[in-house]
Amino acid sequence: MGVVAGVDMQHGEIRREEVMTHVMFALNSAREGQQDNLWFYNTQLHASEELANYIESHMNRALQHGEFKMFLQPKIELKTGKLVGAEALVRWIKADGTMIFPNQFIPLFEQNGFSVELDMYMVEQVCRQIRFWMDSYGVSIPISVNQSKLLFYQDNYVEKLCELIERYQVPARMITLEILEGLAMEDARGLNDRLLELKEKGFRISMDDFGSGYSSFNTLSSLDIDELKLDRGFLMEMHGSRRERQQLILEQIAQLAGKMNITTVAEGVETREDEEIILQAGCDYGQGYYYSRPIDAQVFTEIYF
Ligand code: C2E
Ligand code: CA
Ligand code: CA
Repeated sequence: MGVVAGVDMQHGEIRREEVMTHVMFALNSAREGQQDNLWFYNTQLHASEELANYIESHMNRALQHGEFKMFLQPKIELKTGKLVGAEALVRWIKADGTMIFPNQFIPLFEQNGFSVELDMYMVEQVCRQIRFWMDSYGVSIPISVNQSKLLFYQDNYVEKLCELIERYQVPARMITLEILEGLAMEDARGLNDRLLELKEKGFRISMDDFGSGYSSFNTLSSLDIDELKLDRGFLMEMHGSRRERQQLILEQIAQLAGKMNITTVAEGVETREDEEIILQAGCDYGQGYYYSRPIDAQVFTEIYF
């Protein structure tokens, strides 16, 4: 391998040990690469590798110490402006108060399998929250929770969910499980059997990020889902030159879903104009910064209960 490791000195003076770390890092990157190459130490690459190392070596302790926090983002009924539910989104808040966002650790956890534990932990937080609202206010709203595909390959997945709702005495219909369409591409039949099992227990099923990637109407017809979450991409495209086409597509999806008894939620509603667009298209619910960013569950309670 014709490798030369180099050090990018753009940040001025660096110490000898650091230089060695950087050189080792550049060499490692080169070894992992496919072809002969000239590798330079790259600050950004190193930073993301460092973060990945941090994440993997601290995830277990973080879970035990309660560093994974449930944030909630409201789901609003477009016709009435009423709160109809919330989505649980995880945040990793380190002991020093800094926050790591899910995009930085969820992909890693899906690779190393930790998302099985974390997602179940989140379902438990959701159950706790619903229980708390019911006990304190006599009412609750349903909460949606993201489920990684690894869960669907666990033999005891449904049992574990049932154990949790039993323990917290929460009706299954108060919990919506958000799944990604990619899962259906791998084994639509197997997935649908699982979904039917979950629905039999009373859980609601939502398909997340519809319209991103390889969404197809096939999966819509072959899967028994209750809700369709339209990816933020739809609204982003609305501001470009393809606005009219996009509007038409959105309308057709909302109409078709309606006929199939599937509710539609538009994601990424950021402005009043966005809300107008999705309302016109016939979507049922909206979620996005226009209503609220995801917020700490306690703050959410203070605002909405
Ligand atoms: P998602 O499920 O599609 O969640 C929606 C993401 O869009 C959230 O990012 C939310 O903060 C963001 N968002 C909401 N409204 C707006 C808006 O109006 N504009 C823009 N630009 N963004 C908006 P977040 O919380 O960073 O989560 C990112 C992704 O990480 C989620 O995407 C989900 O796939 C994953 N994730 C989050 N929590 C969990 C979890 O507990 N388990 C699993 N498996 N995945 C999770
Ligand atoms: Ca989601
Ligand atoms: Ca989504």
